[in-house]
Amino acid sequence: MPHRPLALVTGANRGLGREVCRQLLARGYFVVLTARDEASGRAAAGALGAEFLPLDVADPGSVTALAAALRDRHPDGLDVLVCNAGVAMDGFDEHVARTTVDINFFGAARTVDALLPQLRDGGRVVLVSSGVGDRNRLSAALRAAVDAPDLSRERLAGLMNQFVADVRAGRHTAAGWPTSAYAVSKIGVTALAHLLARDLAGDPRHLRINAVCPGWARTDMGGPHAERSAEAGAASIVWAATLPADGPTGGFFRDGEPAAW
Ligand code: NAP
Repeated sequence: MPHRPLALVTGANRGLGREVCRQLLARGYFVVLTARDEASGRAAAGALGAEFLPLDVADPGSVTALAAALRDRHPDGLDVLVCNAGVAMDGFDEHVARTTVDINFFGAARTVDALLPQLRDGGRVVLVSSGVGDRNRLSAALRAAVDAPDLSRERLAGLMNQFVADVRAGRHTAAGWPTSAYAVSKIGVTALAHLLARDLAGDPRHLRINAVCPGWARTDMGGPHAERSAEAGAASIVWAATLPADGPTGGFFRDGEPAAW
């Protein structure tokens, strides 16, 4: 029997994640739909014909349990990982900064780290980011730190933690950060895709790891007046999840085209 490729999507009980699952199922993938809310996750998976597994990307124990459950159920490995879970919170204070960075940046990082060993040859990793995460919103010094060719995972995590500490201390503007935890977290996500691809360049599995922007899409997060449908936003993500073997890695894309960040 031909291998049915296996995809896992985070934050998929609603919005773009759910639509990405629908589109991947339509392309013949076996889809593991994950969500932190078990009831809505199971309902979405049942309606679409996906398998459900619980995952709260903010909870390291939940990420570890998901990795173990996936290996148990699908020992042949994973072909596509879509790190989609994210929040855009109202307001701006230390709580918002910490929660946003923990879910959007660290949540994606810990999910990739936990599932990387299970990715098969030719595996694709998609980090759902946003053009709102624009490096031009950083001071010259912070931008130089993000752009440093030798930027390490530790240094990038340190920058994200520094943002939260600067917000707590009331000095984030003086320190060169924008007043948007969402923007900072997504700068981190796009930088993470670049860095992972760089560090895994010699990996024999020939993984393709990219960040994508779905565009401003009509979901709970994007709101009813967003310019594009959830279907179009999800298609921008699915493009990177279904790249050919010689497709790009380490980039940032919208609708299959390189995008500025
Ligand atoms: P959404 O409708 O608000 O859905 C967000 C999803 O993330 C929900 O399923 C939510 O689950 C999940 N989530 C949040 N925190 C989580 C956690 N700790 N663990 C697991 N799941 C968690 O937003 P969306 O528009 O579909 O956004 C999806 C992704 O696209 C996000 O990364 C977002 O930043 C990005 N994006 C969206 C737009 C846009 O215009 N819509 C534009 C650019 C980028 P709950 O139901 O449990 O809250």
